Amino acid sequence: MINIPVYEPLLGEKELRYVRKCIKSGWVSSLGENIIKFESRFSKFCGVNHGVATSSGTTALHLALVSLGIGMGDEVIVPTLSFVATANAVVYTGARPILIDSEPRTWNIDPEKIEEAITCKTKAVIPVHLYGHPANMSLIMDIAKKHNLFVIEDAAEAHGALYKGRKVGSFGHAACFSFYGNKVITTGEGGMVVTRSSLLNKKMRFLRDHAMSETRRYYHPAVGFNYRLTNMQASLGLAQFEKIDMIISRKREIAFLYNELLHDIKGITLPPEETWAKNIYWMYSILVRNEFGLNRDEIMKRLKGNGIDTRPFFIPMHQLPPYRCKQRFPIADRLASQGVNLPSSPHLTKRQIRYVCEVIKGLFSRERKI
Ligand SMILES: *Cc1c(COP(=O)(O)O)cnc(C)c1O
Repeated sequence: MINIPVYEPLLGEKELRYVRKCIKSGWVSSLGENIIKFESRFSKFCGVNHGVATSSGTTALHLALVSLGIGMGDEVIVPTLSFVATANAVVYTGARPILIDSEPRTWNIDPEKIEEAITCKTKAVIPVHLYGHPANMSLIMDIAKKHNLFVIEDAAEAHGALYKGRKVGSFGHAACFSFYGNKVITTGEGGMVVTRSSLLNKKMRFLRDHAMSETRRYYHPAVGFNYRLTNMQASLGLAQFEKIDMIISRKREIAFLYNELLHDIKGITLPPEETWAKNIYWMYSILVRNEFGLNRDEIMKRLKGNGIDTRPFFIPMHQLPPYRCKQRFPIADRLASQGVNLPSSPHLTKRQIRYVCEVIKGLFSRERKI
């Protein structure tokens, strides 16, 4: 029934060609030249010199945290409004995620609330560039420096986004990306940690591959993981990477058209783009306020009835059973109850975007008449 999905990757002949070539070469597993190529191209794109490809964005986060020495007894600051993997990766290390409320403007972690959450156990902070809009990195880096904390950017939704003209992923001690099917570029499943630190790069490569000694085969001085990406996935990644600038500019065109068509509807808040930011609009997201007349869930239902698939915002971590706590997070609660991701595939046509906006407008005017 659904005609317009919320997201579909842009896959074509090039992807087929690169994957076919990989299969023909026989190097389908996690040895092969495409992994190294993909790591080097993608990390360069982010403005740093090392990239460690992983089996997912989640394993990228876990690998970065463990390699920075974070574990039992430590605390790591994360925004409550993010995909659950941001906090789960902290839990996998034995450390405790400390949740922080959102900024109303950018929907990202509120830097002003970070400092009051820091204790003697705090080791790191993970800012998330939610839905493609960068977090306020200079404020976060200043706080981190002052308190001697690691910063791990969760850039899973923000490939190519800019903070003050500089790519996200180049600010923290490490930054993690995801190449899941609905992310900016995809390898099916996959992820990458990028970093400037050659020491961290080395440590991550070691732990990613069962922590095996470089000089003595089957000698494992630590407990490692198998978090490798395959050469087959990297082949897909290389084909996707050649399109990344085009995909990002398409995403921005899509966002600008949505903005133009939705800006005069009362009760709809358009996605943010601060003067210091380039949002890549991973998911074109709006807030549905009371003035609209219908709430977010009702809008989603009506859109679905018109063949348009959408997603609600993430449920903030503090509302999920593993992370439930007494503290209040009023901004994240409001954003999560009002936020919806509209269809955002890179190959969405102008006609489809107009149709989505007409349906939304129609709902609005119908509510007015009653
Ligand atoms: C997608 C995503 C992840 C996890 O990535 P996977 O590749 O699905 O493991 C982590 N954090 C955020 C913010 C994400 O959107």
